[in-house]
Amino acid sequence: MSLFLSLLSAIAAVAPPPVEGVWVDKGLPGNWAGTSAVLSEAGVDHVLPCLLYGVSPAYPSSLVPVSEAFPPDTGWANDLIAECSARGIEVHAWVILWKANRADGVFLDSLAREGRLQVDCSGDTLPWLCPTDPRNLALEEALVLELLDRFPLDGVQFDYVRFPGAESCCCQGCRDRFARSTGLSPGAWPEDVLPGGRFHREFGLWRADRITHALVLLSMAAGGRGAAVSAAVLPDRADALGCGQDWSLWGRSGVLDRIYFMNYFRTAAELDSVISGQADGLTCGTPAVCGLGTGIGRLEVSPEEARRQVETAIGAGFSGVCHFHLNQTLLRTLASAP
Ligand SMILES: [Zn+2]
Repeated sequence: MSLFLSLLSAIAAVAPPPVEGVWVDKGLPGNWAGTSAVLSEAGVDHVLPCLLYGVSPAYPSSLVPVSEAFPPDTGWANDLIAECSARGIEVHAWVILWKANRADGVFLDSLAREGRLQVDCSGDTLPWLCPTDPRNLALEEALVLELLDRFPLDGVQFDYVRFPGAESCCCQGCRDRFARSTGLSPGAWPEDVLPGGRFHREFGLWRADRITHALVLLSMAAGGRGAAVSAAVLPDRADALGCGQDWSLWGRSGVLDRIYFMNYFRTAAELDSVISGQADGLTCGTPAVCGLGTGIGRLEVSPEEARRQVETAIGAGFSGVCHFHLNQTLLRTLASAP
């Protein structure tokens, strides 16, 4: 064999095949023996069940109260993990950070009283933990470790690794921590850190740095337990940065095993028109997975269209795809895959 052919075969040998995942909302779709058989037959190699929604776990926790708005469903989680694992399908916990809108009401009130919830620039308190508050980061870390203790998981995926938008957080804690960290003194709060304010740029950098700090800490905690770590991100880089989500930096730094871009579109043509803007994410060293809206009812993605979107994503250089999210329609789509 010539050296050239040897090199080609060596490259082919090390290039991993595209991965294919599915996000799964808590409790869906049931019948995991049958569901896992369909997923396995379709080539799905990992599932991402929502096992932690902000501060509401999908199991009875020793750290936070049970919430009626997100009740534990340990039977669903155990069935999913047992059936998928038996078929060689990896299970990565889908962990939604910070959101407290499904937390127990009394617990939510206590978080508000302790000044741990975000406040937007209008002064309204939001049902989201302030991610720059060390107490909140410690709680999320403890919940992730509890989750890994409770279930045999292959990985953890962090979602909502960001602020809700550009208008938060303007809580008193953020004011104090920003001033202490930067040495700047925003006298007019929050005006000094809002668009047009004298510290707007510095505040944007600081909040992105705090989000990255949280991601690194949580990733190290999960990785220390042997879990693969990924994050789901907003695909538009400017939108993401506006929320403090610097995925380009995460990709270059190697803190994650994969980054999932949430590219939810009706057609492959629409998908194709935006993914070129993610070139930084595709070339920064961390494998990028293309999230597809193939299970979003309002997008009405047909099985043929789903196939075109998968081909478009892989053709653009993504390391795989992930379907959002599992329901009967998506199961039929996957079952019809050639
Ligand atoms: Zn805050």
